[in-house]
Amino acid sequence: MDIKDGFVGTVGNTPLIRLKSFSEQTGCEILGKAEFLNPGGSVKDRAAQYIIKDAEEKGLLKPGGTVVEGTAGNTGIGLAHICNAKGYKCLIIIPDTQSQEKIDLLRTLGAEVRTVPAVPYKDPNNYVKLSGRVAQEMDNAIWANQFDNLANRRAHYETTGPEIWQQTDGKIDAWVSATGTGGTYAGVAMFLKEKNPNVQCIVADPMGSGLYSYVKTREIKIEGNSITEGIGNSRITANMEGVPIDDAIRVDDSEAIRVIYQLMYKDGLFMGGSVGINVGAAVALAKQMGPGHTIVTVLCDGGARYQSRLYNLEWLSAKGLLPNP
Ligand code: PMP
Repeated sequence: MDIKDGFVGTVGNTPLIRLKSFSEQTGCEILGKAEFLNPGGSVKDRAAQYIIKDAEEKGLLKPGGTVVEGTAGNTGIGLAHICNAKGYKCLIIIPDTQSQEKIDLLRTLGAEVRTVPAVPYKDPNNYVKLSGRVAQEMDNAIWANQFDNLANRRAHYETTGPEIWQQTDGKIDAWVSATGTGGTYAGVAMFLKEKNPNVQCIVADPMGSGLYSYVKTREIKIEGNSITEGIGNSRITANMEGVPIDDAIRVDDSEAIRVIYQLMYKDGLFMGGSVGINVGAAVALAKQMGPGHTIVTVLCDGGARYQSRLYNLEWLSAKGLLPNP
């Protein structure tokens, strides 16, 4: 028998997909870890599962308790599913710049959702800081604290990394991923470097994020902005501290849009915006490394979460980002 134990038992063990059109174009094997196939629809199910399990094991989260989190949406969606499955309440604080689809889904799942203005991390009303304060003021509540809670990257060190190693039979030349909290990038990079220090670990970064400049010059410098959601950061989170980074590649929105439309029309994969940054960076890396290399990246979530934006030609046109027909 092969029966999964509910939502939590279904997280992980996602396929690794050969991205055909990009592999053929570059002569490299460009492989995408299909995290959009997790039961909550994104890579963040893994972190949500580990964070809740960790809080339960430490006795911090008790029956009937509330899980509070500041999130761009996907972590909240993962948490909301697990809270339903385990009898917890869920309170989500989300910047009002995030897609309506994610906010609607959180409410459908029964989470209490508070949308707040998007302000920088240094502002005390930043959604992450606000969620920490709200959790502290409530009885029988925990703050998931995905950015600085190391249970997040442990999920990827213990599951995503080993899965990629096993699925490629250890024949992997590079790992490239954008970072929000950094949990995905960090956990996988730490695992792969332990297995083989020659695996190149590369941060993909959208415009408006400071990691590219940090990797290149050790200084966080923010330039431009991005329509992608859930990735980019203006600080080094605890999850990114001490993590191997060989280089960084910056991808702009027009390239990310071109990539997700190619994935849709040529590969049959309907993907979210961060996938455009990830696969765009994998393609740039393939050009740097030359043919014959195996490059793994993440297909973080699906396109339905962004249909009113990334797949709405009027919205794209207003942003000056219409893809070529
Ligand atoms: N892509 C999307 C769509 C996300 O929601 C997130 C998480 N915020 C990421 C990528 C980045 O994942 P991580 O937090 O593990 O860096």
